[in-house]
Amino acid sequence: MRLVLLGLPGAGKGTQGELIARKYGIPHISTGAIIREAVATGIGYGKEADAYLTKGNLIPDDVAIEIVYDRLNKPDCRRGWILDGFPRTVHQAQALDKKLAQDGSDVQMAFEIRITKKSAIERIAKRRMCRDCGAIYHLEFHRAKGKGVCDLCGGELFRRDDDTEETARRRFYVYMQQTHPVMHYYAQDGRLYSVDGIRAIGDVFVDVDHHLQRLVAEQNVGEAQ
Ligand code: ADP
Ligand code: ZN
Repeated sequence: MRLVLLGLPGAGKGTQGELIARKYGIPHISTGAIIREAVATGIGYGKEADAYLTKGNLIPDDVAIEIVYDRLNKPDCRRGWILDGFPRTVHQAQALDKKLAQDGSDVQMAFEIRITKKSAIERIAKRRMCRDCGAIYHLEFHRAKGKGVCDLCGGELFRRDDDTEETARRRFYVYMQQTHPVMHYYAQDGRLYSVDGIRAIGDVFVDVDHHLQRLVAEQNVGEAQ
């Protein structure tokens, strides 16, 4: 299963990505998480990336592409992967297709999680993240059982630096300018699947999973032939 998750910041990509990863046993790769970690440790491109992130801008295409290629080469990606936060430009999408084609591979489905700007801002303002495992929570819609600690690993929950309303607005603008066209890119050859993201987390997943089950069924038929 080789998937891409698209949608405004706050749409629920990370949340759905985790659910898919858990059900199908493939890695959920958040380029944002990888970059935020590099920024925190200050290693490699981390220093350079910090300035882009806190302003709500994208890091340069070549840096993003490099990060993803590196990650997809790891052994746990052999059975499939879910990309979250990449591609963010049409150029990145083309680079990914080109690279995968060299190995006879491809992106099978791109999901668009649809949400309004208003809901996205509300979600981002109340998003909390686990410092240790990256699990995503929401102060209202997906609360951790303990106060400020992760249900899964006991790690500390924190608010991302770029989860302010001001940065969110800049990220929406950048999304509309640069990332929205990526949707058309995948729609052109029938790889785009659109789901309504303004519903409970479990209900959104039912829709996503419906498409995934079809993909699994098709693959099984393919293998049996
Ligand atoms: P993205 O990765 O697209 O930026 P996240 O998965 O981090 O979005 O979700 C943003 C916030 O909204 C998080 O706090 C998450 O817990 C919450 N959230 C995600 N999906 C839903 C949903 N369907 N209903 C309510 N809240 C949600
Ligand atoms: Zn955790």
